Amino acid sequence: MVIIKTTCPSCGEVDLTAEKVELRIALGGTGSSYAFDCPRCTDRVRKPADSRVVQLLISGGVSPEILAEKAEAPVERTAKVAAARDAHPTRAHVVSRPSTPAITYDDLLEFHRELESGVLENFLRNAAA
Ligand SMILES: [Zn+2]
Repeated sequence: MVIIKTTCPSCGEVDLTAEKVELRIALGGTGSSYAFDCPRCTDRVRKPADSRVVQLLISGGVSPEILAEKAEAPVERTAKVAAARDAHPTRAHVVSRPSTPAITYDDLLEFHRELESGVLENFLRNAAA
């Protein structure tokens, strides 16, 4: 079980598991964020997630919810998010490199580059096709 360390404004550093974190990725811009219920004070905490935080959370097993910024039909958008959840793009990334037994720092850097180059957008386009 991967422990995700983050901070609560009231309690300071807290440990979370991936299931406790909701990650929202805003495609094509800023506005990505993550949220969790603090395990100590039970407050709902929402924080902005830059690309570094996003990649750390995903590598920790958090399933991202993809928010498309472009105007799309709600049904299509829901289908895309569902497809992204079902297919686990992060696992597809790992599977594409079967010789790599574990995620390394280099993998994170590579994943970061792929995120910035629009791999998520491409993935979603393919998943919806
Ligand atoms: Zn707290």
